Amino acid sequence: MPSALSPQLTQIHPGIKLGRVLVVEDEKLIRETIALALTEEGYDVLLAEDGRSALEFSRRAESGDDGRGAPLSLIILDLMLPYINGLDLCRLIRHEGSGVPILMLSAKGSETDRVVGLEVGADDYLTKPFGMRELIARCRALLRRHHHAHPQTQESVLRFQTIALYPQECRVIVRGEEINLSPKEFRILELFMTHPRRVWSREQLIERVWGPDFMGDSKTVDVHIRWLREKMEIDPSRPEYLMTVRGFGYRFG
Ligand code: CA
Repeated sequence: MPSALSPQLTQIHPGIKLGRVLVVEDEKLIRETIALALTEEGYDVLLAEDGRSALEFSRRAESGDDGRGAPLSLIILDLMLPYINGLDLCRLIRHEGSGVPILMLSAKGSETDRVVGLEVGADDYLTKPFGMRELIARCRALLRRHHHAHPQTQESVLRFQTIALYPQECRVIVRGEEINLSPKEFRILELFMTHPRRVWSREQLIERVWGPDFMGDSKTVDVHIRWLREKMEIDPSRPEYLMTVRGFGYRFG
């Protein structure tokens, strides 16, 4: 049964995850803009609007007691926050032994703030105002760095025959070569690879990959499967991985 998190914590996207990111920011517009950008990238986003609930959430996630059984991959932490400010929160999280990557945000751009942020244990520092593309790039870089430094603490690689999918790095290797997938293609493949041979209807795939608010046509699924086949299969017209199950939908393997 899910534990009762404080009401300030909101899970906004239950879909397929490239990682769980906790966004701690008291300014609603910034918080929601960041959340939207991360969600579109395929991250599972959790929100906290003050330092106290963020600390509570971090503790629950570290102890595996948040009812969802997945650790945080990254914390995006604003400097100025109610109850516990970003610097103190960062210090506390590190003091309690968590090595989760922390990206600190601040309206101040001075060298001193940056240095203090890094000294209390933040991994990177971004000054407001910033663009969402820069934020996403920083998040990716942090996750990549963290993965290389602590490979054992990360999600395991998903493997199927000659395919390897690295969830944290958003990378897919097929027959020894990296292929480029769009975020949606990646999420379809990740979903397939976590449930080999399970049959998925188009509606189920839309629900899990595009989300319940998707207004488009289920033909969208067919188009993405076709693109995936073109990128992954030796002969896309005779697939070995992405199989059509007539009358039902698709299956992997
Ligand atoms: Ca703030």
